[in-house]
Amino acid sequence: MSSFNDIFETYNWDDTKASIYAKTSADVERALVASKRTLEDFKALVSPAAAPYLEQMAAISQQLTLKRFGKVIQLYVPLYLSNECNNICTYCGFSYDNKVRRKTLSPMEIMQEVAVIKDMGYDHVLLVTGEANLTVNVDYFKKTLDLIRPHFAHISMEVQPLDLEDYGQLTPYGLNTVLVYQETYHQEDYKKHHPKGKKSNFQYRLETPDRLGQAGIHKMGLGVLIGLEDWRTDCFFTALHLNYLEKQYWQSKYSLSFPRLRPFSGGLEPKVEMSDRELVQLICAYRLFNEEVELSISTRESSNFRNNIIKLGITSISAGSKTNPGGYAVEPEALEQFEISDERSPQEIAKMIRAQGYEPVWKDWDNCLVK
Ligand code: SF4
Repeated sequence: MSSFNDIFETYNWDDTKASIYAKTSADVERALVASKRTLEDFKALVSPAAAPYLEQMAAISQQLTLKRFGKVIQLYVPLYLSNECNNICTYCGFSYDNKVRRKTLSPMEIMQEVAVIKDMGYDHVLLVTGEANLTVNVDYFKKTLDLIRPHFAHISMEVQPLDLEDYGQLTPYGLNTVLVYQETYHQEDYKKHHPKGKKSNFQYRLETPDRLGQAGIHKMGLGVLIGLEDWRTDCFFTALHLNYLEKQYWQSKYSLSFPRLRPFSGGLEPKVEMSDRELVQLICAYRLFNEEVELSISTRESSNFRNNIIKLGITSISAGSKTNPGGYAVEPEALEQFEISDERSPQEIAKMIRAQGYEPVWKDWDNCLVK
């Protein structure tokens, strides 16, 4: 069966990067007025040549987002179930070689966490784990989904990539969305950052969204970890991937995230820095390229940045997040996966959203819509 890898193999990283950096102001101006923007237009919009056009990009991005999504921002919160992990990832506090205490939440502990999350007002939860197939496996996911399904309208997962049959088993348990970030599309650097464990298999990860599409998952999330490699090139490959998936699996919906490398215990310094201004450029470029895709921003970013980005293309935001298993109720002091930057409560974030004339949405989906 064909997959994104067939397309990906026809591209060369260095040539792609060179073509982005060769874009001119004429290319950017053409992209700005195009009625349907192409991948070449996307390259122009993320290129250094687009930097002076940021205000125009932001105005178009705002207008397109309002037209498609209205004045609403969806709210979600992560629930870390486990920090056990057999992979070595150079940028993560849960990496196998990082000597931290490991914990996987029991059913009772999960419900303690759920009680706090529900008190915050959430109806959309993102389940997060490391990759430890002996303990945190399809069976564990089924039991967890079964346990929490009555309490949430929308359940997303950000766990290890699974086989097609596994995804097929989880959707009847109420799984709506799966996030699987490629981290970087630079194959050699990917190997350097993932030297051990199943995650070191670049191609298996690259083809995960294909398996999600084949399993008929409602929504999938893509992205790279910004800071590992040249962000413009990595984000071009994300756009290429999205473009392919939308055509191949048109029944699914898509979201994009753009996490910037954050400090953590024993942490890695970013190879490539991305400024706030460049992140705004990227968000606007994604919106100009694709009017349908959801764009999500997490508590990795500062409160000031998040306040200012609400109106420019974002459609969902997390708040009050804890990035350690048990962080809400069971074990609040345990080691986090990465440090949170915006520490405001969900209610403070909802107030900030309303102050900008937007409506915070706690529930945007109900499974009865597909029954
Ligand atoms: S990024 Fe994920 S797979 Fe890698 S070490 Fe962290 S938890 Fe494990």
